[in-house]
Amino acid sequence: MLKRTNSVLEALVLHRTADLEESRRLLRATLEHMDQGLVLLDQNQTVRLCNPRALELLRLPEDVLHESAAFRDVRAFQNERGDFSMIAPSTSSIIKGSDARLFPLIYDWPRPDGKTLEVRRVQLPDGSSVNTFTDATERRASEAAVRQSESRYRLLAERVEELAQIDELTGVLNRRYIMQELSDEMSRAQRTAEACSIAMIDLDFFKRVNDRFGHPAGDEVLRSFAIAASANIRTIDRLGRYGGEEFLLILPRASKEPATLAVNRLREIVANLDWTAISDELVVTISGGVAQVRLDEAPDEVLARADTALYGAKDAGRNRVISA
Ligand code: GH3
Ligand code: MG
Ligand code: MG
Repeated sequence: MLKRTNSVLEALVLHRTADLEESRRLLRATLEHMDQGLVLLDQNQTVRLCNPRALELLRLPEDVLHESAAFRDVRAFQNERGDFSMIAPSTSSIIKGSDARLFPLIYDWPRPDGKTLEVRRVQLPDGSSVNTFTDATERRASEAAVRQSESRYRLLAERVEELAQIDELTGVLNRRYIMQELSDEMSRAQRTAEACSIAMIDLDFFKRVNDRFGHPAGDEVLRSFAIAASANIRTIDRLGRYGGEEFLLILPRASKEPATLAVNRLREIVANLDWTAISDELVVTISGGVAQVRLDEAPDEVLARADTALYGAKDAGRNRVISA
């Protein structure tokens, strides 16, 4: 009976030993062939396990990084060699410290050879730690490329957005955008009870300009008017093409009187422009209708009042500014 028990025990022990051998063999094979570098430190900060990939990625000789090396000595070797020279000074000073418990859990380690290692450190409750090193050079480079193309795309999108706000012929704001600005400015003025005025400006007898000098010359007149007007308004004013040869000027923080003065000044500037490049006989004038935004009115209402004033200016003989 005893003999039988012994042989069972023997068989069990043999079986366990074989199991253990097999586990060791598998672990060795895994460590040997894995793509990540692995370094296990025990609670005394002594290396207990490291794989060939760790030696390769960290570029450490076997007599520095080996199973039983003191982590302090490995760090000293790396410090000496300048392994941390590419890391931001604040992070670098933490990592350089010989106590492995101090440095961050996951961080990128830019290496002097141009590679980037991703370091991950898992601290176990007994003070030992598992440290893995992954070559993240290509991943980081492609992430940077994606970021770069994203920022290029953003710039392009901004440009498209900008173009969508501008009238192609004259370079001033287009109708959609000036209407948006009108609505925004009016809300702001009404909320803060600040003055705000608008002016409808229309080129006089423009049909004649086209008929006499041709449509391209008419276009040139529209462009020149827009340039001259833009150069002679305040930076807070907004000028947009309302349609055809009609423009809308928004004058924030201006009550009716100063707004009318400003538009009159524009009228004079336009009347005195030199058009000889197109024809000696070309004369261009504008008429304007000014209205100050009321506290309780909608954009359509103030536009209608400015338009009525404009027609008053036309009726009165053109080349003049009338306020509502
Ligand atoms: P009024 O003094 O009463 O404003 O007379 P007007 O001739 O300016 O007014 P009308 O509305 O009869 O004619 C406007 C002309 O503006 C007709 C149209 O062909 C011309 N026009 C509108 N948009 C453009 C444009 O983009 N380029 C050119 N060249 N002409 C344009
Ligand atoms: Mg006109
Ligand atoms: Mg018109």
